[in-house]
Amino acid sequence: MSGIYIHIPFCKQACHYCDFHFSTSMNKKEEMVLALAKEIRMRKSEFGLLDSARSDIEIETIYFGGGTPSVLTSAEINCLIDVVYENYEVADNPEITLEANPDDLSSARILELSKSKINRLSIGIQSFFEDDLKMMNRAHDSAEAQKCLEEATKYFDNISLDLIYGVPGMSNEKWKQNIEKALSFGVPHISSYALTIEPKTAMNKMIQTGKMEAPKDEVAQEHFMILVETLEANGFIHYELSNFGKENYFSKNNSAYWLGKKYMGIGPSAHSYDGVSRSWNIANNPLYLKAIHDNKLPNEIETLSEADRYNEYVMTGLRTIWGVSLDRIKTEFGQTYIDYLMKQAQKFLNDELVFIENNILRPTKKGKFLTDGIASDLFYLNLE
Ligand code: SF4
Repeated sequence: MSGIYIHIPFCKQACHYCDFHFSTSMNKKEEMVLALAKEIRMRKSEFGLLDSARSDIEIETIYFGGGTPSVLTSAEINCLIDVVYENYEVADNPEITLEANPDDLSSARILELSKSKINRLSIGIQSFFEDDLKMMNRAHDSAEAQKCLEEATKYFDNISLDLIYGVPGMSNEKWKQNIEKALSFGVPHISSYALTIEPKTAMNKMIQTGKMEAPKDEVAQEHFMILVETLEANGFIHYELSNFGKENYFSKNNSAYWLGKKYMGIGPSAHSYDGVSRSWNIANNPLYLKAIHDNKLPNEIETLSEADRYNEYVMTGLRTIWGVSLDRIKTEFGQTYIDYLMKQAQKFLNDELVFIENNILRPTKKGKFLTDGIASDLFYLNLE
């Protein structure tokens, strides 16, 4: 199974918390679409039609991420999908996701998208409250968020929405109202992340200059518990630390990353994984455009060591419903790694933050919020 991720590096305005790669100038948008199409063609030997004898190279997911992919016209999106179909073996009924912001999703636009091959929308709602949206500097308002969900649910059955928790000043009650509002639209998937303050963001500056209060871990933890409890009570499966889906609605694209499948990342800053090494494209629009124009792939490649692969497996295993299989650690990495893992995990087992059942290590309810910290303590650091 393989997936293609296409990074659209443009946003209408910079959200105050965001450190993703994007430009707020749309000047090069058309040139960028042509370059993305060219990169898709240039890389077809990686798992394109040339390799069609292999069954694992079928493209099962196409994901437009960003940035804000919904700033592209439907014609531009359809053109990129067509280029994938022309150059790769695409499975029947692939999952094709478009990340979209509410301010781009007018009724007419939703109708237009529903006639394209896009069959999943991931909508960046973040909050239904005006004051939160202003503080985050989102380009949409609360009315747009609600209107676009009302319309989108008429045409798309597979919709995910994003919500941010741990926002300074957000009470538990307000957070519950946000979740309830999201549930009222009947969407089958919700992704929810704690607000984190990244170094080079406007929000970091606002906190340092006293214009905004820093998010508190205790608040984020309470919000997380409310989130898990409410969504599970409403039939969602907590299948990854930040992701909740109804049965048959887990993100196929993201699940493939977490299960260590191959994927190809197209566009500035996009990452790829071929089963052995990772590569990432340059996070700079002009340099990306120049390289593609010169028929060069502007990427760096890193071959993963055994310890890297073990660390990634532990991190993704603990974060997902699939857990960390001790049998797999033993067969794939050997006794040294299993001994190391068990030694490191002991204190978390004693504190009931993780548990082992059927030879699978998983975080307990109490340990879930601390998953990333626990995983980093289980990382294998010094043996290579
Ligand atoms: S729209 Fe998304 S990618 Fe763009 S600045 Fe906001 S959070 Fe970042």
